[in-house]
Amino acid sequence: MRSVVVGAGIAGLVLAVELRRRGGDVTVVESRYPGAGNSTRNVGRVRRMQLTADLTEISCRASDLWARLDERTGGRNPLLYPTRYVWVLYGEDERAVVEPLQPMWDRYGARTRVVGSAAVLDAVPVLAGGDRPVGGVIGEAAIVHHDAAVYALYLRARETGVRFAVGDEVTHVDVTDGRAAGVVTASGRTIRGDVVVNAAGGRSGELARASGVAVPNAPIRREVLVTEPSRPFMTPAVTFYRPQEGWFNQTLRGELVAGVVDVDEPTGMTEESSLRFLGRTARVVLTKAPRLAELRVVRQWAGVYDTTPDKRPLVGEHDALPGFFALNGWSGRGILLAPLCAELLARQIAGHGRDSVLAGFDPNRFSGAETVAAVPGDYYSGYAH
Ligand SMILES: Cc1cc2nc3c(=O)[nH]c(=O)nc-3n(C[C@H](O)[C@H](O)[C@H](O)COP(=O)(O)OP(=O)(O)OC[C@H]3O[C@@H](n4cnc5c(N)ncnc54)[C@H](O)[C@@H]3O)c2cc1C
Repeated sequence: MRSVVVGAGIAGLVLAVELRRRGGDVTVVESRYPGAGNSTRNVGRVRRMQLTADLTEISCRASDLWARLDERTGGRNPLLYPTRYVWVLYGEDERAVVEPLQPMWDRYGARTRVVGSAAVLDAVPVLAGGDRPVGGVIGEAAIVHHDAAVYALYLRARETGVRFAVGDEVTHVDVTDGRAAGVVTASGRTIRGDVVVNAAGGRSGELARASGVAVPNAPIRREVLVTEPSRPFMTPAVTFYRPQEGWFNQTLRGELVAGVVDVDEPTGMTEESSLRFLGRTARVVLTKAPRLAELRVVRQWAGVYDTTPDKRPLVGEHDALPGFFALNGWSGRGILLAPLCAELLARQIAGHGRDSVLAGFDPNRFSGAETVAAVPGDYYSGYAH
C-alpha cells in the first residue's frame, strides 16, 4: 500500500511512522519544514479530563499513549513533564456544570476531582490576592516539549524509510476513476498513492475543498506569550474555566507562558502575533494573579486552531472521495489527540477496521457544510452543554 501524507506536523509524522511500521510505502509532503505549523506553536498540554464522556474516554487513552510515546520514536525521549491540570472556577454556575461530571471522570480513569477554593489556592498559590476562586477541578496531566516530540518522530520516520518531499506544497488531490490516486504539487509533480491523508493542520480545510471535498473546518488564530524566567512558583497547568479562556503555566526553565482568547477572533490563516493579545492577556492574568506583574514579557507567537463546528476532529475516509482520508480538525487538542488518532487511522488504513472511539470523529458528519462561522462564546461553554 502506497500512502501520501500531506503535512509533517505531529499528526502526519505519527501516521507516517505507524503506516511504515505496518509495512506501507509512505511519502510525506511538507510545504515548509517538519514542525513548521502548530505542532511547535502550542503549549503542549495533555490532560485526561474533558467535559463530555466521549472526549474524556479518548483523552485518557491519548494520555496513556503519550506516556509511552518513546516506543514510537525508537526510544527517543519526547520530554513529557507529568503535572496536574487545574480549571479555576469563579462562579457557582461553573461549579454546577462540573460537579455532576465526577462519576463520569471516575468511570474513565480521568484521575480528576472537583475541589474547593482552598485546594485551588494550595495548588496555585500565585492566585492569592487576585479574583477569589469558588473552587476548581484538578486532574492528572502532562506538558509535552513539542520540539523534542516532533523531532523525535521525524528522525524515527526517516530511519524507518519514510520518504519526505520537503519544500513542496500540495495543491490538490489527484483523482482517477473517482478515487484519490495521489497528489499534485505546486512544483508540478504528481506523487502517486493508493491513499492520501490530509494532515495539513490549519490548511487542511483549504486542501480538502481544493480537492472537491466539502468540509467545514477553518483556522482560528491563537496566541501565546512568554516571560523572562523566574524562580519556580507553580507546577500545574492552569486554565480559567470561563468567561474568557485564559490560561498560564510555568515552564521547567521558569518562564511563564500565558494566553487569553479573543472570542471574536475571525477565521483565517494567520501566524502573526498582535499587540491586542499582549494587552488582553496581561489584563486578565493580572486580575487573577496580581503578583505576576513583576515578570517581563520577552516574546510571543501565534498559530491556529483548525476548528470544526462541534470542536471534534475529523478522522477517517471522505465518502465524497474514496482513498482520501482526514486527520485534522483538532480544534485546539491536536497535541493531545493526534498521536492516538493517527495510530488508530493507520490501523484502519491497513485494513484492521475503525476503532469505536473514532466513530464521533467521522469526517462525513457535517454533510457538506462549507464554512464555519466564528466560534461564538467561550471555548469551553461551546461544548459543555
Ligand atoms: C497557541 C496554541 C496552543 C495550543 N496548545 C495546545 C495544547 O496545549 N494541547 C493540545 O493538545 N493542542 C494544542 N494546540 C493545538 C495543536 O498545536 C494542534 O492541534 C496540532 O499541532 C495539530 O498538528 P497537525 O500535525 O495537525 O498540524 P500542524 O502541526 O500545523 O502541521 C501541518 C503541516 O502541514 C503543512 N502543510 C499545510 N498545508 C500544506 C500543503 N498544502 N502541502 C504540504 N504541506 C502543507 C504545514 O506547513 C505544517 O507543517 C495549540 C495550538 C495553538 C496554536
